[in-house]
Amino acid sequence: MNITVMGLGYVGLTNAAYLAQIHSVWGFDKDIAKIHDLNNQIDYLNEPGVSPLLKKHSKNLVYVEAPSQALSQSDVVLIAVPTPEGKDGQIDLSAVEEAFAHVIESGKKDVLVVVRSTVTPGADQALIQQALVKNRKDIQIVIMPEFLSQGEALKNITSPSRVVVGVHQLGLEKKVKSLFRYPSNIPFLITDPSTASLTKYAANSFLASKVSFINEMSQIAEAVGADIQDVVKGIGYDPRIGHQFIQPGVGFGGSCFPKDLKALKYLATQHQIKGSMLDATMAINQDQTTRFMNRVMARLNYQIKQKKIAVLGLSYKGSTTDVRNSTAFKVIDTLADQQALIFAYDKKATFDFFNLRGEKPCLAYAIELEDALKDADVAIILNDAKEIKNLKVSDFIRLMKTPIVFDGRNLFDPKTMQGIEYHSIGRPTKK
Ligand code: NAD
Repeated sequence: MNITVMGLGYVGLTNAAYLAQIHSVWGFDKDIAKIHDLNNQIDYLNEPGVSPLLKKHSKNLVYVEAPSQALSQSDVVLIAVPTPEGKDGQIDLSAVEEAFAHVIESGKKDVLVVVRSTVTPGADQALIQQALVKNRKDIQIVIMPEFLSQGEALKNITSPSRVVVGVHQLGLEKKVKSLFRYPSNIPFLITDPSTASLTKYAANSFLASKVSFINEMSQIAEAVGADIQDVVKGIGYDPRIGHQFIQPGVGFGGSCFPKDLKALKYLATQHQIKGSMLDATMAINQDQTTRFMNRVMARLNYQIKQKKIAVLGLSYKGSTTDVRNSTAFKVIDTLADQQALIFAYDKKATFDFFNLRGEKPCLAYAIELEDALKDADVAIILNDAKEIKNLKVSDFIRLMKTPIVFDGRNLFDPKTMQGIEYHSIGRPTKK
Protein backbone atom coordinates (compact mmCIF):
# COMPACT_ATOMS: atom_id res chain seq x y z
CA MET A 1 0.00 0.00 0.00
CA ASN A 2 1.04 3.63 -0.49
CA ILE A 3 0.55 5.75 2.60
CA THR A 4 1.03 9.39 3.46
CA VAL A 5 1.60 10.38 7.08
CA MET A 6 0.80 14.04 7.79
CA GLY A 7 2.54 15.46 10.85
CA LEU A 8 5.86 13.84 11.79
CA GLY A 9 5.98 14.31 15.56
CA TYR A 10 5.78 11.68 18.29
CA VAL A 11 2.70 10.02 16.84
CA GLY A 12 3.25 10.55 13.11
CA LEU A 13 6.93 9.69 12.83
CA THR A 14 6.62 6.61 15.03
CA ASN A 15 3.62 5.40 13.00
CA ALA A 16 5.62 6.08 9.82
CA ALA A 17 8.57 4.04 11.13
CA TYR A 18 6.27 1.14 12.02
CA LEU A 19 4.37 1.23 8.71
CA ALA A 20 7.53 1.51 6.58
CA GLN A 21 8.30 -2.08 7.59
CA ILE A 22 5.29 -3.17 5.54
CA HIS A 23 4.36 -0.38 3.09
CA SER A 24 5.67 2.55 1.06
CA VAL A 25 5.36 5.64 3.21
CA TRP A 26 5.47 9.31 2.35
CA GLY A 27 6.00 11.66 5.27
CA PHE A 28 4.85 15.26 5.22
CA ASP A 29 5.30 17.88 7.90
CA LYS A 30 4.54 21.59 7.82
CA ASP A 31 7.82 22.20 9.62
CA ILE A 32 10.37 22.17 6.81
CA ALA A 33 13.25 21.93 9.30
CA LYS A 34 11.92 18.49 10.31
CA ILE A 35 11.85 17.34 6.68
CA HIS A 36 15.46 18.48 6.30
CA ASP A 37 16.45 16.68 9.50
CA LEU A 38 14.77 13.49 8.38
CA ASN A 39 16.41 13.65 4.96
CA ASN A 40 19.75 14.07 6.75
CA GLN A 41 18.97 11.24 9.18
CA ILE A 42 18.94 13.60 12.17
CA ASP A 43 16.85 12.29 15.06
CA TYR A 44 14.80 15.06 16.65
CA LEU A 45 12.42 12.70 18.42
CA ASN A 46 14.72 10.77 20.77
CA GLU A 47 12.27 7.88 20.97
CA PRO A 48 13.95 4.51 21.55
CA GLY A 49 14.11 2.37 18.40
CA VAL A 50 12.57 4.89 16.00
CA SER A 51 15.78 6.15 14.33
CA PRO A 52 17.20 2.67 13.62
CA LEU A 53 13.87 1.59 12.13
CA LEU A 54 13.70 4.70 9.91
CA LYS A 55 17.24 3.99 8.71
CA LYS A 56 16.59 0.29 8.15
CA HIS A 57 13.54 0.96 6.00
CA SER A 58 14.71 4.20 4.41
CA LYS A 59 13.96 2.76 0.94
CA ASN A 60 10.27 2.73 1.90
CA LEU A 61 10.26 6.29 3.20
CA VAL A 62 10.15 9.59 1.33
CA TYR A 63 9.89 12.91 3.19
CA VAL A 64 8.30 15.79 1.33
CA GLU A 65 7.92 19.53 1.84
CA ALA A 66 4.68 19.64 -0.18
CA PRO A 67 2.12 16.87 0.09
CA SER A 68 0.31 16.94 -3.28
CA GLN A 69 2.41 14.34 -5.12
CA ALA A 70 2.38 11.99 -2.13
CA LEU A 71 -1.37 12.34 -1.67
CA SER A 72 -2.12 11.77 -5.33
CA GLN A 73 -0.53 8.30 -5.02
CA SER A 74 -1.66 7.25 -1.55
CA ASP A 75 -4.42 4.76 -0.74
CA VAL A 76 -4.35 5.74 2.92
CA VAL A 77 -3.54 9.00 4.72
CA LEU A 78 -2.72 9.14 8.43
CA ILE A 79 -3.36 12.47 10.13
CA ALA A 80 -1.12 12.95 13.18
CA VAL A 81 -0.98 16.72 13.58
CA PRO A 82 -1.42 18.56 16.90
CA THR A 83 -4.81 19.25 18.45
CA PRO A 84 -3.85 21.86 21.05
CA GLU A 85 -5.95 23.72 23.55
CA GLY A 86 -8.13 26.34 21.92
CA LYS A 87 -10.42 29.04 23.30
CA ASP A 88 -11.90 28.21 26.73
CA GLY A 89 -10.12 24.84 26.72
CA GLN A 90 -11.92 23.49 23.68
CA ILE A 91 -9.95 21.54 21.11
CA ASP A 92 -8.29 23.52 18.33
CA LEU A 93 -8.93 21.45 15.20
CA SER A 94 -7.31 23.87 12.78
CA ALA A 95 -4.18 21.76 12.07
CA VAL A 96 -6.35 18.68 11.38
CA GLU A 97 -8.57 20.72 9.07
CA GLU A 98 -5.54 22.18 7.32
CA ALA A 99 -4.03 18.73 6.76
CA PHE A 100 -7.40 17.39 5.61
CA ALA A 101 -7.76 20.28 3.14
CA HIS A 102 -4.65 18.94 1.37
CA VAL A 103 -6.31 15.52 1.14
CA ILE A 104 -9.44 17.07 -0.33
CA GLU A 105 -7.31 18.96 -2.81
CA SER A 106 -4.91 16.23 -3.93
CA GLY A 107 -6.06 12.92 -2.45
CA LYS A 108 -6.84 9.91 -4.66
CA LYS A 109 -10.46 8.91 -5.21
CA ASP A 110 -11.84 6.82 -2.30
CA VAL A 111 -8.79 7.53 -0.17
CA LEU A 112 -9.04 6.33 3.42
CA VAL A 113 -8.16 8.97 6.03
CA VAL A 114 -7.12 7.57 9.40
CA VAL A 115 -7.24 10.24 12.11
CA ARG A 116 -4.62 9.38 14.73
CA SER A 117 -4.66 12.85 16.31
CA THR A 118 -6.74 13.06 19.47
CA VAL A 119 -10.04 14.63 18.43
CA THR A 120 -13.25 15.19 20.35
CA PRO A 121 -16.48 13.40 19.34
CA GLY A 122 -17.98 15.20 16.37
CA ALA A 123 -14.67 16.01 14.69
CA ASP A 124 -15.33 13.33 12.07
CA GLN A 125 -18.60 15.08 11.15
CA ALA A 126 -16.77 18.39 10.79
CA LEU A 127 -14.32 16.73 8.38
CA ILE A 128 -17.11 15.08 6.42
CA GLN A 129 -18.76 18.49 6.00
CA GLN A 130 -15.43 19.98 4.93
CA ALA A 131 -15.15 17.28 2.25
CA LEU A 132 -18.77 17.62 1.10
CA VAL A 133 -18.37 21.34 0.45
CA LYS A 134 -15.64 20.42 -2.05
CA ASN A 135 -17.64 17.53 -3.56
CA ARG A 136 -15.38 14.88 -2.04
CA LYS A 137 -18.07 12.48 -0.84
CA ASP A 138 -15.74 9.61 -1.77
CA ILE A 139 -13.24 10.27 1.07
CA GLN A 140 -13.59 7.72 3.87
CA ILE A 141 -12.76 8.74 7.42
CA VAL A 142 -11.96 6.55 10.39
CA ILE A 143 -11.07 7.70 13.87
CA MET A 144 -8.26 5.58 15.28
CA PRO A 145 -6.96 7.20 18.47
CA GLU A 146 -3.34 6.68 19.37
CA PHE A 147 -2.63 5.49 22.91
CA LEU A 148 1.16 5.57 22.88
CA SER A 149 3.18 6.83 25.80
CA GLN A 150 6.24 8.98 25.10
CA GLY A 151 9.47 7.22 25.94
CA GLU A 152 8.05 3.93 24.69
CA ALA A 153 6.22 5.12 21.59
CA LEU A 154 7.51 2.48 19.20
CA LYS A 155 6.93 -0.34 21.67
CA ASN A 156 3.35 0.85 22.15
CA ILE A 157 2.70 1.13 18.41
CA THR A 158 4.29 -2.22 17.61
CA SER A 159 2.44 -4.02 20.36
CA PRO A 160 -0.51 -1.89 21.47
CA SER A 161 -2.57 -2.86 24.52
CA ARG A 162 -5.60 -2.46 22.24
CA VAL A 163 -6.64 -0.91 18.96
CA VAL A 164 -9.80 1.18 18.79
CA VAL A 165 -11.24 2.04 15.41
CA GLY A 166 -14.32 4.21 14.87
CA VAL A 167 -15.96 3.65 11.49
CA HIS A 168 -19.08 5.03 9.82
CA GLN A 169 -19.55 1.96 7.76
CA LEU A 170 -18.62 -1.59 8.66
CA GLY A 171 -15.97 -3.04 6.41
CA LEU A 172 -13.55 -0.10 6.62
CA GLU A 173 -11.92 -1.72 9.64
CA LYS A 174 -10.66 -4.48 7.31
CA LYS A 175 -8.57 -1.89 5.49
CA VAL A 176 -7.20 -0.64 8.82
CA LYS A 177 -6.35 -4.24 9.78
CA SER A 178 -4.44 -4.83 6.57
CA LEU A 179 -2.70 -1.51 7.05
CA PHE A 180 -1.30 -2.23 10.53
CA ARG A 181 -1.29 -6.05 10.34
CA TYR A 182 -1.45 -6.56 14.07
CA PRO A 183 -1.43 -10.12 15.38
CA SER A 184 -4.87 -11.50 16.21
CA ASN A 185 -4.17 -11.56 19.98
CA ILE A 186 -4.20 -7.75 20.14
CA PRO A 187 -7.69 -6.61 21.17
CA PHE A 188 -9.29 -4.81 18.22
CA LEU A 189 -12.38 -2.83 19.10
CA ILE A 190 -14.57 -1.70 16.21
CA THR A 191 -17.01 1.03 17.10
CA ASP A 192 -18.44 4.31 15.84
CA PRO A 193 -16.26 7.45 15.49
CA SER A 194 -17.72 9.32 18.51
CA THR A 195 -17.14 6.33 20.77
CA ALA A 196 -13.58 5.93 19.49
CA SER A 197 -12.88 9.60 20.21
CA LEU A 198 -14.44 9.47 23.66
CA THR A 199 -12.47 6.29 24.49
CA LYS A 200 -9.23 8.22 24.04
CA TYR A 201 -10.38 11.10 26.26
CA ALA A 202 -11.74 8.69 28.85
CA ALA A 203 -8.40 6.83 28.92
CA ASN A 204 -6.32 9.97 29.44
CA SER A 205 -8.74 11.47 31.96
CA PHE A 206 -8.85 8.25 33.94
CA LEU A 207 -5.06 7.99 34.05
CA ALA A 208 -4.77 11.64 35.11
CA SER A 209 -7.43 11.13 37.79
CA LYS A 210 -5.43 8.19 39.20
CA VAL A 211 -2.41 10.47 39.54
CA SER A 212 -4.45 13.24 41.16
CA PHE A 213 -6.10 10.75 43.49
CA ILE A 214 -2.80 9.46 44.83
CA ASN A 215 -1.45 13.01 45.00
CA GLU A 216 -4.39 14.01 47.19
CA MET A 217 -3.66 10.98 49.37
CA SER A 218 -0.03 12.13 49.56
CA GLN A 219 -1.20 15.50 50.92
CA ILE A 220 -3.14 13.70 53.64
CA ALA A 221 -0.16 11.42 54.32
CA GLU A 222 2.05 14.47 54.82
CA ALA A 223 -0.47 15.99 57.22
CA VAL A 224 -0.78 12.88 59.41
CA GLY A 225 2.83 11.67 59.16
CA ALA A 226 2.02 8.57 57.13
CA ASP A 227 4.12 7.08 54.32
CA ILE A 228 2.41 7.33 50.94
CA GLN A 229 4.73 4.75 49.34
CA ASP A 230 3.48 2.13 51.77
CA VAL A 231 -0.09 3.25 51.05
CA VAL A 232 0.66 2.76 47.32
CA LYS A 233 1.92 -0.76 48.02
CA GLY A 234 -0.98 -1.49 50.32
CA ILE A 235 -3.65 -0.51 47.83
CA GLY A 236 -1.78 -1.65 44.72
CA TYR A 237 -1.70 -5.30 45.76
CA ASP A 238 -5.48 -5.27 45.45
CA PRO A 239 -5.93 -6.60 41.90
CA ARG A 240 -8.91 -4.30 41.45
CA ILE A 241 -6.55 -1.34 41.94
CA GLY A 242 -3.08 -2.43 40.74
CA HIS A 243 0.23 -0.57 41.06
CA GLN A 244 0.31 1.28 37.77
CA PHE A 245 -0.15 5.03 37.58
CA ILE A 246 -0.52 5.53 41.32
CA GLN A 247 2.92 6.98 41.89
CA PRO A 248 2.71 10.28 43.79
CA GLY A 249 4.66 13.25 42.47
CA VAL A 250 4.89 16.98 42.03
CA GLY A 251 2.06 17.00 39.48
CA PHE A 252 1.61 15.78 35.92
CA GLY A 253 2.40 17.75 32.76
CA GLY A 254 3.02 16.85 29.13
CA SER A 255 1.42 17.62 25.81
CA CYS A 256 -1.66 15.45 26.36
CA PHE A 257 -3.20 15.18 29.84
CA PRO A 258 -3.68 18.92 30.54
CA LYS A 259 -5.20 19.78 27.15
CA ASP A 260 -7.27 16.59 26.91
CA LEU A 261 -8.80 17.15 30.35
CA LYS A 262 -9.72 20.68 29.37
CA ALA A 263 -11.17 19.62 26.03
CA LEU A 264 -13.32 16.97 27.70
CA LYS A 265 -14.45 19.43 30.36
CA TYR A 266 -15.42 21.88 27.61
CA LEU A 267 -17.36 19.15 25.82
CA ALA A 268 -19.12 18.14 29.05
CA THR A 269 -20.11 21.75 29.72
CA GLN A 270 -21.53 22.05 26.22
CA HIS A 271 -23.88 19.22 27.18
CA GLN A 272 -24.79 20.69 30.61
CA ILE A 273 -22.67 18.07 32.39
CA LYS A 274 -20.67 19.33 35.37
CA GLY A 275 -17.46 17.39 34.78
CA SER A 276 -16.68 17.44 38.52
CA MET A 277 -14.12 14.61 38.30
CA LEU A 278 -12.29 16.48 35.58
CA ASP A 279 -12.34 19.70 37.62
CA ALA A 280 -11.01 17.92 40.69
CA THR A 281 -8.26 16.17 38.71
CA MET A 282 -7.05 19.49 37.30
CA ALA A 283 -7.37 21.40 40.58
CA ILE A 284 -5.47 18.79 42.63
CA ASN A 285 -2.74 18.80 40.01
CA GLN A 286 -2.26 22.57 40.27
CA ASP A 287 -2.42 22.40 44.03
CA GLN A 288 0.17 19.63 44.23
CA THR A 289 2.87 21.77 42.59
CA THR A 290 1.90 24.86 44.59
CA ARG A 291 2.09 22.94 47.89
CA PHE A 292 5.43 21.45 46.96
CA MET A 293 6.87 24.88 46.20
CA ASN A 294 5.38 26.31 49.39
CA ARG A 295 7.31 23.67 51.30
CA VAL A 296 10.54 24.70 49.56
CA MET A 297 9.92 28.37 50.37
CA ALA A 298 8.93 27.69 53.98
CA ARG A 299 12.10 25.63 54.48
CA LEU A 300 14.15 28.64 53.37
CA ASN A 301 12.11 30.93 55.64
CA TYR A 302 10.91 32.71 52.50
CA GLN A 303 14.44 34.12 52.05
CA ILE A 304 14.99 32.79 48.54
CA LYS A 305 16.74 35.79 47.00
CA GLN A 306 20.25 34.89 45.78
CA LYS A 307 19.93 31.32 47.06
CA LYS A 308 21.37 28.85 44.59
CA ILE A 309 18.72 26.30 43.66
CA ALA A 310 19.46 23.31 41.44
CA VAL A 311 16.41 22.26 39.42
CA LEU A 312 16.96 18.75 38.11
CA GLY A 313 14.78 17.47 35.27
CA LEU A 314 13.06 19.82 32.80
CA SER A 315 11.02 17.45 30.63
CA TYR A 316 7.68 16.30 32.01
CA LYS A 317 9.05 12.80 32.54
CA GLY A 318 12.53 11.37 32.43
CA SER A 319 12.02 9.14 29.41
CA THR A 320 11.29 11.96 26.96
CA THR A 321 12.80 15.27 25.86
CA ASP A 322 9.32 16.80 25.58
CA VAL A 323 8.97 19.83 27.86
CA ARG A 324 5.44 20.86 26.88
CA ASN A 325 3.45 21.75 30.01
CA SER A 326 6.26 20.47 32.19
CA THR A 327 5.99 21.27 35.91
CA ALA A 328 9.49 22.74 35.59
CA PHE A 329 8.00 25.93 34.11
CA LYS A 330 5.89 26.62 37.18
CA VAL A 331 8.70 25.70 39.56
CA ILE A 332 11.24 27.90 37.80
CA ASP A 333 8.81 30.82 37.51
CA THR A 334 8.05 30.61 41.24
CA LEU A 335 11.76 30.64 42.08
CA ALA A 336 12.50 33.41 39.58
CA ASP A 337 9.78 35.58 41.12
CA GLN A 338 11.71 35.29 44.39
CA GLN A 339 15.00 36.12 42.63
CA ALA A 340 16.64 32.80 43.38
CA LEU A 341 19.74 31.83 41.39
CA ILE A 342 18.42 28.91 39.43
CA PHE A 343 20.67 26.30 37.87
CA ALA A 344 18.51 24.11 35.67
CA TYR A 345 19.70 20.75 34.42
CA ASP A 346 18.37 18.16 32.04
CA LYS A 347 20.68 15.91 30.05
CA LYS A 348 18.44 15.82 26.98
CA ALA A 349 15.71 18.45 27.27
CA THR A 350 17.64 21.66 28.04
CA PHE A 351 17.62 22.85 24.44
CA ASP A 352 13.84 22.45 24.07
CA PHE A 353 13.20 24.06 27.45
CA PHE A 354 15.45 26.99 26.55
CA ASN A 355 13.61 27.39 23.24
CA LEU A 356 10.30 27.79 25.05
CA ARG A 357 11.41 29.68 28.16
CA GLY A 358 14.37 31.61 26.77
CA GLU A 359 16.69 33.56 28.99
CA LYS A 360 15.88 34.92 32.40
CA PRO A 361 18.31 37.00 34.43
CA CYS A 362 18.32 34.54 37.32
CA LEU A 363 18.23 31.32 35.27
CA ALA A 364 21.32 29.44 34.11
CA TYR A 365 21.39 26.11 32.30
CA ALA A 366 23.97 23.68 33.66
CA ILE A 367 25.62 21.40 31.12
CA GLU A 368 26.65 18.84 33.72
CA LEU A 369 24.56 17.61 36.62
CA GLU A 370 27.46 18.32 38.96
CA ASP A 371 27.56 21.98 37.86
CA ALA A 372 23.92 22.39 38.83
CA LEU A 373 24.48 20.85 42.27
CA LYS A 374 27.79 22.56 43.01
CA ASP A 375 27.43 24.91 46.00
CA ALA A 376 23.63 24.75 45.80
CA ASP A 377 21.56 25.64 48.84
CA VAL A 378 18.72 23.40 47.73
CA ALA A 379 18.19 20.78 45.03
CA ILE A 380 14.73 20.21 43.55
CA ILE A 381 14.12 16.98 41.63
CA LEU A 382 11.37 17.15 39.02
CA ASN A 383 11.73 14.09 36.83
CA ASP A 384 12.96 10.53 36.92
CA ALA A 385 15.76 10.68 34.32
CA LYS A 386 18.31 7.89 34.78
CA GLU A 387 21.21 10.18 35.67
CA ILE A 388 19.13 11.85 38.40
CA LYS A 389 17.98 8.47 39.76
CA ASN A 390 21.61 7.37 39.79
CA LEU A 391 22.73 10.19 42.10
CA LYS A 392 24.19 9.00 45.38
CA VAL A 393 23.74 10.58 48.81
CA SER A 394 27.47 11.22 48.77
CA ASP A 395 27.05 13.34 45.59
CA PHE A 396 24.62 15.70 47.34
CA ILE A 397 26.92 15.92 50.39
CA ARG A 398 30.07 16.41 48.34
CA LEU A 399 28.72 19.00 45.94
CA MET A 400 26.07 21.07 47.68
CA LYS A 401 26.63 23.95 50.07
CA THR A 402 23.80 22.66 52.23
CA PRO A 403 22.50 19.24 51.23
CA ILE A 404 18.77 19.97 51.31
CA VAL A 405 16.90 17.96 48.69
CA PHE A 406 13.25 18.27 47.66
CA ASP A 407 12.40 15.21 45.65
CA GLY A 408 9.24 15.71 43.63
CA ARG A 409 9.33 12.15 42.26
CA ASN A 410 10.15 10.07 45.35
CA LEU A 411 13.20 8.61 43.61
CA PHE A 412 15.02 7.61 46.79
CA ASP A 413 14.31 5.65 49.91
CA PRO A 414 14.47 8.12 52.84
CA LYS A 415 16.16 5.46 54.98
CA THR A 416 19.18 5.56 52.68
CA MET A 417 19.50 9.35 52.72
CA GLN A 418 21.87 9.55 55.69
CA GLY A 419 23.63 12.88 56.17
CA ILE A 420 21.27 15.02 54.11
CA GLU A 421 17.94 16.69 54.67
CA TYR A 422 15.57 14.86 52.38
CA HIS A 423 12.04 16.05 51.66
CA SER A 424 9.81 14.02 49.39
CA ILE A 425 6.13 13.65 48.54
CA GLY A 426 3.79 12.19 51.15
CA ARG A 427 6.53 10.84 53.39
CA PRO A 428 8.05 12.10 56.63
CA THR A 429 11.08 14.32 56.09
CA LYS A 430 14.45 12.68 56.74
CA LYS A 431 16.75 15.10 58.60
P1 NAD B 1 3.86 16.76 17.82
O1 NAD B 1 3.75 18.18 18.16
O2 NAD B 1 5.00 15.95 18.37
O3 NAD B 1 3.88 16.56 16.23
C1 NAD B 1 2.94 17.11 15.39
C2 NAD B 1 3.62 17.46 14.07
O4 NAD B 1 2.64 17.95 13.16
C3 NAD B 1 4.69 18.54 14.18
O5 NAD B 1 5.89 18.07 13.62
C4 NAD B 1 4.11 19.72 13.39
O6 NAD B 1 5.11 20.47 12.73
C5 NAD B 1 3.22 19.01 12.41
N1 NAD B 1 2.12 19.83 11.87
C6 NAD B 1 1.40 20.80 12.47
N2 NAD B 1 0.43 21.24 11.66
C7 NAD B 1 0.55 20.53 10.51
C8 NAD B 1 -0.15 20.52 9.29
N3 NAD B 1 -1.21 21.32 9.10
N4 NAD B 1 0.26 19.70 8.30
C9 NAD B 1 1.32 18.88 8.48
N5 NAD B 1 2.03 18.84 9.63
C10 NAD B 1 1.64 19.64 10.63
O7 NAD B 1 2.49 16.11 18.25
P2 NAD B 1 2.23 14.63 18.77
O8 NAD B 1 2.67 14.54 20.19
O9 NAD B 1 2.72 13.66 17.77
O10 NAD B 1 0.63 14.62 18.80
C11 NAD B 1 -0.13 14.59 17.63
C12 NAD B 1 -1.55 14.23 17.98
O11 NAD B 1 -1.56 12.93 18.59
C13 NAD B 1 -2.21 15.15 18.99
O12 NAD B 1 -3.58 15.20 18.71
C14 NAD B 1 -1.97 14.45 20.33
O13 NAD B 1 -2.94 14.79 21.29
C15 NAD B 1 -2.11 13.01 19.92
N6 NAD B 1 -1.38 12.06 20.76
C16 NAD B 1 -0.15 12.35 21.26
C17 NAD B 1 0.50 11.43 22.07
C18 NAD B 1 1.84 11.75 22.67
O14 NAD B 1 2.21 11.09 23.66
N7 NAD B 1 2.59 12.68 22.16
C19 NAD B 1 -0.08 10.21 22.36
C20 NAD B 1 -1.33 9.92 21.80
C21 NAD B 1 -1.97 10.85 21.00
